[in-house]
Amino acid sequence: DLALNRSKSAGKGTVMLYEPGMEDEIVRRRALEIELGQAVANKEFEPFYQPIIDLPTGSVVGIEALVRWRHPRRGLVSPSEFIAVAESSGHIVEIGQIVLEKACLDASALAKPIQVSVNLSMVQLMRVDVPAMVADILARTALAPERLKLEITESVMMCDEARSRDLISRLRELGIWISLDDFGTGYSSLSYLRGFGFDEIKIDRSFVSALDQDPESLAIVQTIIALGRRLGLRVVAEGIETEFQANMIMACGCTRGQGYLFSEPVPFPALKALIEPSMVEAARVA
Ligand code: C2E
Ligand code: MG
Ligand code: MG
Ligand code: MG
Repeated sequence: DLALNRSKSAGKGTVMLYEPGMEDEIVRRRALEIELGQAVANKEFEPFYQPIIDLPTGSVVGIEALVRWRHPRRGLVSPSEFIAVAESSGHIVEIGQIVLEKACLDASALAKPIQVSVNLSMVQLMRVDVPAMVADILARTALAPERLKLEITESVMMCDEARSRDLISRLRELGIWISLDDFGTGYSSLSYLRGFGFDEIKIDRSFVSALDQDPESLAIVQTIIALGRRLGLRVVAEGIETEFQANMIMACGCTRGQGYLFSEPVPFPALKALIEPSMVEAARVA
């Protein structure tokens, strides 16, 4: 079971939804579904942001929105605890819309015109008119289309390739960017790089974190970067935790990355302070 496996591997700072006595998985899942419905109504979801870094200079060139659930009793709940259930129950449609709208609003409030990346679920893409929703949100938040990037994983294309291709091209016609997330894992196939018109690929964290351990990961990372180059795509490395990994990524010719080495995902005010320190200084002087 995806949700349960993900719970077991959840990282630090996350809260488990498991409660003693609720042994039955179906009961637990049903309870979570009901809670998700209430949480949507109570607007308990908000994006945190992880900066995306230009590795040679260390400057912030983008941000990725990552949803968090501010649970009234359990505190901050990470997506690995609820995304899978939200996808099967359909709540991801509303959650995704909340996150997208807030992310566009926050990005438009930044002093620096950097891009904001938002994760898009296959369920959203298949159930609602995502291009119409995006156009509406861009208009309401006054964010320039080229500042929005949607991150899609390969499983999205799996279900209906022709429809996915059409939806992605409609999204790109709006002027937004499309990124292929977690590249190299899951149902990855090189054929997805053909004809979909991606603007970017993100090297999955599993390859980056193994850079110091096995030569295969290094060879894979080098190859993904070379492939991205040949196809004219931007390449971003995710999950950079050490200086060594950052240096290896740069040595392979990739200049963009994100990871705990630079910053964990943080709430919007903390992100603002992180990327606009000079503005705070200027305000202090004035
Ligand atoms: P993702 O899009 O691949 O996001 C990267 C994940 O790696 C995030 O986990 C991030 O916090 C984590 N991460 C970043 N740097 C490091 C690092 O240096 N080390 C380690 N160990 N982890 C790092 P998070 O926030 O728990 O999100 C997990 C996944 O949940 C995301 O993977 C994405 O697939 C999904 N997700 C998050 N927010 C949304 C959303 O708003 N909508 C949808 N549909 N999915 C979302
Ligand atoms: Mg992502
Ligand atoms: Mg990713
Ligand atoms: Mg990933």
